Amino acid sequence: MRYLSTRGGATPQSFCDILLGGLAPDGGLFVPESYPRVSTQELAEWRKLPYAALALRILAKFIDDIPPPELAALIDRTYTAANFRHCRPGRDAAEITPLTTLEEGFHLLELSNGPTLAFKDIAMQLLGNLFEYVLEKRGETLNILGATSGDTGSAAEYAMRGKKGVRVFMLSPHGKMSPFQRAQMYSLQDPNIINIAIRGMFDDCQDIVKAIAADADFKTRYKIGAVNSINWARVLAQTVYYFKGYFAATEQDGQEVAFAVPSGNFGNILAGHIAHMMGLPIARLVLATNENDVLDEFFRTGRYRPRSAQDTFVTSSPSMDISKASNFERFVFDLVGRDATVVRSLWRAVEQGGDFDLSQTPYWQRMPSYRFVSGKSVHADRVATIRETWSRYGVMIDPHTADAVKVAQHWRESGVPMIVLETAQPAKFAETIQEALGISPSRPQELVGIEDLPQRVLVCEADAGAVRRIIEKTCAE
Ligand SMILES: *Cc1c(COP(=O)(O)O)cnc(C)c1O
Repeated sequence: MRYLSTRGGATPQSFCDILLGGLAPDGGLFVPESYPRVSTQELAEWRKLPYAALALRILAKFIDDIPPPELAALIDRTYTAANFRHCRPGRDAAEITPLTTLEEGFHLLELSNGPTLAFKDIAMQLLGNLFEYVLEKRGETLNILGATSGDTGSAAEYAMRGKKGVRVFMLSPHGKMSPFQRAQMYSLQDPNIINIAIRGMFDDCQDIVKAIAADADFKTRYKIGAVNSINWARVLAQTVYYFKGYFAATEQDGQEVAFAVPSGNFGNILAGHIAHMMGLPIARLVLATNENDVLDEFFRTGRYRPRSAQDTFVTSSPSMDISKASNFERFVFDLVGRDATVVRSLWRAVEQGGDFDLSQTPYWQRMPSYRFVSGKSVHADRVATIRETWSRYGVMIDPHTADAVKVAQHWRESGVPMIVLETAQPAKFAETIQEALGISPSRPQELVGIEDLPQRVLVCEADAGAVRRIIEKTCAE
């Protein structure tokens, strides 16, 4: 399997070659040269497999430069009941992503049972093991530099802690995260995890990362890498739970299901698109946004209109607060018939601050075959949905999942099971739960009192030079 750039300008590469990098050299995103098809026979056989075995079958179709026994060992080490143990009472942690049925034909797929209580753990935990493996094979080291407003940073740190050959420098806005989020990250004592609290906003953190990544000399000298949501391995790891959820919600192969996905950077639902392209019987991919509705607008109208940072709302489902969707280019590449010239010209407009509109093109006629529909949910919907799900089903959901439940209600169809992807645990967003239900969500036992643990963080001015010096100093030690 080779990987190509959505903009056509990169030589095809193998999986391990693109694993550690970010964007393709031409500014595009790496995509597989084709999507492997899953036969009916394979699908029938996969139905009975435990999570790790299923993951191996799927991943082996995309990864041919790690010997299967070694790939199996990495996967087995990642998807253990001990690692994904924070599931609802009565659910089996060995399922990794257990299904909770709210009512006949309406389900939640729990993706937030990993160490940081959000779905990003599922891919990131595998990424930690893949990085360690490839770096060791090559005798290389890597310094991951990232910016976070919460979920991504903690998922990356818990995935990379203690891993050989990897260091993480994670920038976060000083005093802007919740006490729980801060405690999750800053209480890590592993020497390879370096938390840097920037006196500024999340955007300042991101600007510093961009400035340093643009300095080619520094980047090479200090082997700077990233683990952001455009990383192909993350998308790939996420396709597995679409299959798992399908098997859990159906009794026979061939039956169609719908998935509803709370979306921001389009990484999660892109994995659903890939599962569909591989042959998983998906009737609908329901994309849900919050007030930041760039993607809902596209799927309703054909117009993609990225917003500026100033026009991005801070909401009560903060992990979906995006101005543009970084993985979206991969889907558009398929939509325009994998024509890199077209993608290049569309993103030339976007990069100049513009937008594009596909509604009057022949590509838009193909849209129905991709099964996407969309909707939007705002704060009042979120709160009402948390309340309703609690009173009707006795199930507490987080604000992101609530956005998807709200939009999913609109698209339910008789005879087609609807599977809502649960992307975080309510314990991470206590304030909104309190507003909706008047009670505080309970936490997994071992996270009780985490705010009182000693914290390890360097506070730093919003200045790329100062962050550079921290990296230089750490690497010299
Ligand atoms: C990251 C995240 C999302 C959005 O996922 P994308 O892959 O960016 O679309 C939704 N919910 C939660 C809790 C998240 O952490």
